[in-house]
Amino acid sequence: MHKQQIAISIVCPFFNEEKMVDLFMKEITAVVNELNKPFEVVCVNDGSTDNTLAKLLQAKEDYPNMKIINFSRNFGKEAALTAGLDYAKGEMIIPIDADLQDPPELIKDFISYREKGYDVVVAKRVDRSTDSILKKTTAQLFYKLHNKIAQTKIPDNVGDYRLITRKVLNAMQELRENQRFMKGIFAWVGFKTATVEYKRNNRKAGKTSYNGWKLWNFALDGITSFSNIPLRIWLYIGTFISFLTFLYGSFIIARTLIWGVDVPGYASLLTVILFLGGIQLIGIGALGEYIGRIYMESKKRPLYIVEDEY
Ligand code: UDP
Ligand code: MG
Repeated sequence: MHKQQIAISIVCPFFNEEKMVDLFMKEITAVVNELNKPFEVVCVNDGSTDNTLAKLLQAKEDYPNMKIINFSRNFGKEAALTAGLDYAKGEMIIPIDADLQDPPELIKDFISYREKGYDVVVAKRVDRSTDSILKKTTAQLFYKLHNKIAQTKIPDNVGDYRLITRKVLNAMQELRENQRFMKGIFAWVGFKTATVEYKRNNRKAGKTSYNGWKLWNFALDGITSFSNIPLRIWLYIGTFISFLTFLYGSFIIARTLIWGVDVPGYASLLTVILFLGGIQLIGIGALGEYIGRIYMESKKRPLYIVEDEY
């Protein structure tokens, strides 16, 4: 028997989303059914500690075109998304979050752009009024800084919610790095891209698993994955400080030659020592960030462990 080709793969990571499973499946299938194309929903349970898995298995009875990948523990969203993409069989692949912050109706726009020949259709949040001021400003700052120093620019306010074709997915799968900053990986591969604008909703249920510290580390992953400027900048900082030191040193020597030895200077001495100590530690810290990542990368561990597939 000839198995029907899957046109659309919806890929969704679930981490402690027991309240969202039914709602998500209901809303997503309502939208995708209208398209009249064979589709699958690939759900990755990222080591949830609540009843997400049971809920997913239960939902599969109503939605047989669900595929459930169950991780052996929590590996993080980027790993869950990677797994979902690895298992997706469709010609068009659409990653989306489980919390319905990104409206499923956009999928229709994605598909119509796809039909116009775009290989990537991204969704850009034009209205982040549902995010806190702190999250908004830090996100803005991150995009600015990232795009200033990284070779791969990421479009601002564009998340993982998008459509990619099989061709793009194949290209992305060539990148098997352990530090997976998906936004960067999506951007890195390129391809003809269209942008759909939308307003981001509040979470329908449950709560975010990204607090300040996690977001900070996420930002560090993003920057270190796509830029080596934080490493190289020390050459210039060092050169600049050496130049200032040379000027100041020349001034001191000249002054001593003209006016003789001048013993006071405790405050300036201490300031300079502490300042340079601080600068050096920051430099070492930057080195540490990269060396730590090289270390993790060199182990070549798998990105995730699948316990079961359903
Ligand atoms: N998620 C995941 N693993 C994690 C954290 C989150 O798979 O360790 C999933 C989560 O279930 C959701 C998506 O990633 O589907 C986005 O998470 P969240 O809504 O908490 O992030 P935010 O929208 O606040 O950035
Ligand atoms: Mg969310």
